Amino acid sequence: RLSKRLETVASFIPTQSKLADIGSDHAYLPCYAYLQGYITMAVAGEVADGPFRSAKQQVAKTGLSDVISVRKGDGLEVIALEEVDCITIAGMGGTLIANILEAGKEKLAGVKRLILQPNIGSHVVRQWLMDNDWELIAERILEEDGRIYEVLVAEKGDGKKPYDNIEAEILLGPFLMKERNDVFLKKWEQEVAHWKQIVAQLTEKATTAESMAKKQELERKIRIVEEALR
Ligand code: SAM
Repeated sequence: RLSKRLETVASFIPTQSKLADIGSDHAYLPCYAYLQGYITMAVAGEVADGPFRSAKQQVAKTGLSDVISVRKGDGLEVIALEEVDCITIAGMGGTLIANILEAGKEKLAGVKRLILQPNIGSHVVRQWLMDNDWELIAERILEEDGRIYEVLVAEKGDGKKPYDNIEAEILLGPFLMKERNDVFLKKWEQEVAHWKQIVAQLTEKATTAESMAKKQELERKIRIVEEALR
């Protein structure tokens, strides 16, 4: 059985997609997407040796070597121009996801949909999408095994949409803010509590300009989140 996290990612793959799953590890996501009938082919990209081999094994074991091509390489370099129309990148930090998209920008020409699942730092991904005219069209937040995950879905369009309170919405997610489900509230209550602890520590021994700046930045974020949750 696929994790709820990856199932949520897969649920946003349009039917008949040609998929690239970047950082595929065991290639569970493309195998599942094919068996569910979501995709006609996939490229599973992996930069690291171990995960690359486990992806190859999994695809062979599932009998999908004809339709899922496992390739070793960094980010989007494993796909040819216009080879795929949907890209998933899951289970990494938001900064790494944004860096992979930035480095492979020219490969995004024929791509219609991005489905991104940052473990942390989803605001970095939203910012990249906005700056590069990818319109956020859906978001999910879910909890599994005590961890909270976000899934962001974007299509080529107007990067400024759907934001109207950019500062808060880039940080928290415009759709997630509107939905305000229990997982969302839990995530941000935990986050604010954690930031407040750090602020207290910094207040005790904040002497350098750097720690003062860090404290101010955290206080700013606490204000944004508390206002949004009110
Ligand atoms: N996508 C799977 C999932 O969500 O369960 C695997 C997540 S795993 C924690 C992250 C994977 O991304 C690792 O296997 C790592 O080798 C791979 N990775 C990290 N940076 C990468 C890059 N620049 N290009 C391709 N793969 C990368």
